Amino acid sequence: MVATLTFLGSGTSMGVPTLGCECVVCVSATSAYGNPRNRRTRPSILLAYNDHNVIIDTGPDFHAQAVRERLKQVDAVLYTHGHADHILGMDDLRPLTFHHSEPVPLYADSPTAETIERVFDYTFRNVNRYPTSARVSLRRISDSPGTFIDLFGAKFERVPVQHGTEIITGYRFGQAAYLTDISDIPEQSVPMLMDLDLLILDALRRQPHPTHSNLSNSISLVEKLKPKRAFFTHMSHDLDHDETNAALPAHIRLAHDGLQLTFEIA
Ligand SMILES: [Zn+2]
Ligand SMILES: [Zn+2]
Ligand SMILES: [Zn+2]
Repeated sequence: MVATLTFLGSGTSMGVPTLGCECVVCVSATSAYGNPRNRRTRPSILLAYNDHNVIIDTGPDFHAQAVRERLKQVDAVLYTHGHADHILGMDDLRPLTFHHSEPVPLYADSPTAETIERVFDYTFRNVNRYPTSARVSLRRISDSPGTFIDLFGAKFERVPVQHGTEIITGYRFGQAAYLTDISDIPEQSVPMLMDLDLLILDALRRQPHPTHSNLSNSISLVEKLKPKRAFFTHMSHDLDHDETNAALPAHIRLAHDGLQLTFEIA
């Protein structure tokens, strides 16, 4: 079964342009004479297959991303972790959930689910719940190895990844994997990431960073895992789209907002 993956956003937590910054990439991101591929909203992907739409993360730009992609239906959301740039758009799911026969499932590991419940307390509390809250149900992903979530004929496997001092959730689905916000991949997760057609991973900037992989480290991870193609995401204003792409091997590209790719999901 073929799925279409759309990058709803490919930027780091601050987005590009970074507010207040007038560097070449930030200016290029919004200038009529610049490169619109340098405009990066907060990171998220949409997977469309089997007449269903699954989203990984709903960041603060989710509303604008959904308008841009004319998104009319969301059937499930998978979360990677509880940082603001990955969860704050949850509330914008509201109009897309009201007409569902069942609440839309949100999948998250336990620490992420706890953060979502705390931030959106008015949606999840049993007493005095806000009446027009999103019609969603939060489901905790087991952290036992080999657990799959079955969604509309495709299997999603949780891939534990290192994000600074935390272990967060990456996902493998069919021939693709999405690893945002990683500083490293633990050895026990490596076997889950072999034989990929498509690997999407964090590459924040050129310099090392305590909680994110940088460009040279991400290239090394691609060389280790050997996917057919790799796309970098969660990028800051340090990486000009065309200039960085020109220096990368042909099978590694920078993602950009709105980029669509197809792959076998099941
Ligand atoms: Zn992030
Ligand atoms: Zn800048
Ligand atoms: Zn993060």
